[in-house]
Amino acid sequence: MQEIEFLNPVILPAQMLEERVWHNGLCSGCRACIAVCLADSLVYDHEANHPLQVNPCVDCKACLVACPRLSENIERTSSSDIIGPYLKIINARSKKSSSRQQNGGAASALLAAALDEELVDCALVMGLDRWSQEPHPRVIRDSSDLEKTAGSKYTKNDILESVKELIRDPQVKNIALVGTPCSVQAVGLLRQSDNEYAAKLASKVRFLMGLFCFEAFDQQAITKMERAIGQPSWRIDKMSAGEGKMTVVLRNGSVQTIPLPLLAEFIKPGCVACTDFTAKLSDISLGGIGSAPGMTSTIVRTPEGMGLFKIAEEMGYIETWDGVEVEEIEKVGKIKVRKHKASTTPP
Ligand SMILES: Cc1cc2nc3c(=O)[nH]c(=O)nc-3n(C[C@H](O)[C@H](O)[C@H](O)COP(=O)(O)OP(=O)(O)OC[C@H]3O[C@@H](n4cnc5c(N)ncnc54)[C@H](O)[C@@H]3O)c2cc1C
Ligand code: SF4
Ligand code: SF4
Ligand code: SF4
Repeated sequence: MQEIEFLNPVILPAQMLEERVWHNGLCSGCRACIAVCLADSLVYDHEANHPLQVNPCVDCKACLVACPRLSENIERTSSSDIIGPYLKIINARSKKSSSRQQNGGAASALLAAALDEELVDCALVMGLDRWSQEPHPRVIRDSSDLEKTAGSKYTKNDILESVKELIRDPQVKNIALVGTPCSVQAVGLLRQSDNEYAAKLASKVRFLMGLFCFEAFDQQAITKMERAIGQPSWRIDKMSAGEGKMTVVLRNGSVQTIPLPLLAEFIKPGCVACTDFTAKLSDISLGGIGSAPGMTSTIVRTPEGMGLFKIAEEMGYIETWDGVEVEEIEKVGKIKVRKHKASTTPP
């Protein structure tokens, strides 16, 4: 695809991100710019909720190619449809069910197939400190560890920062990466680019798996949840956001719910400018909405995604059913667009 020109002889790339993304409150916090910056110019400022330049820049422009919140890139990636391109939409679930899986466990089963068949050297997923409920990216090389990292982590969307060390590791040739739509958009943009620095990351991501995402929360939401349910974080076994509430399952099996408006003040600032619900640039997208009970709505989008899906089926790792309620996915996606579009004013 033809490269977009980010030509401005006066403004350096980080300055352009600062003026057009960071200072307009548009930064998603995806860390794609940090991940592609081989000069280590950028770090994330947690107070400010966006990156900062701390080292000299070599003007390679990879960060501009990656940023899903620059208007040129928004034009390139956005489309009015909610579902996006696909080859097949189907209910899928893991044949090896686990209490940790979020819905049907299809995401973990697909990753297991990729690892066991040695299609990838590792999977980059989101782990969790089960004491504090603080998520952290994890590199998985043995599929038996995937069960520990199953389940949705609602307070993290920075999986890409960890990809940086994998790009630099010559032993790692192919990665399967799971991410929220903002991370998927960034990798999708890098895949479309001719920029040689962008290619270092994009060429290593063999499978890009996207999770449906309405919004994510800052980690302080956990403290609020502890107060709301009157239990410490370590008692929480699982969380599930949907239908206007956060459902919390405790280790003793009891269930409590928290209305989502109670957590509204903790929605990540960059989420209010986000209109992609289904991770339209993924190879395979996965979500709970629209699925049959105990299954994952699975959107297979690309030939690569279809290849992995078929291999997982042939290996007996997943089973499938027709009948995903696509209108349900579209309904929620449209609510996200309505809610967030009004606050998106890309310069
Ligand atoms: C912040 C967030 C918001 C979501 N909102 C919705 C929604 O509104 N509607 C809906 O239908 N679905 C939503 N989902 C997706 C849904 O919760 C499930 O992740 C999806 O259905 C896959 O389920 P599964 O059982 O197949 O996955 P599992 O087999 O449980 O595997 C999930 C995989 O995703 C990884 N993962 C978990 N959290 C993250 C994260 N934050 N970043 C990167 N990787 C992660 C895990 O490590 C694991 O590898 C959301 C997910 C997240 C993380
Ligand atoms: S990615 Fe390239 S252009 Fe962007 S800050 Fe780093 S060195 Fe500069
Ligand atoms: S949206 Fe992502 S790529 Fe763009 S500035 Fe923010 S962290 Fe960097
Ligand atoms: S709503 Fe989800 S995809 Fe969008 S910026 Fe927030 S975490 Fe990323």
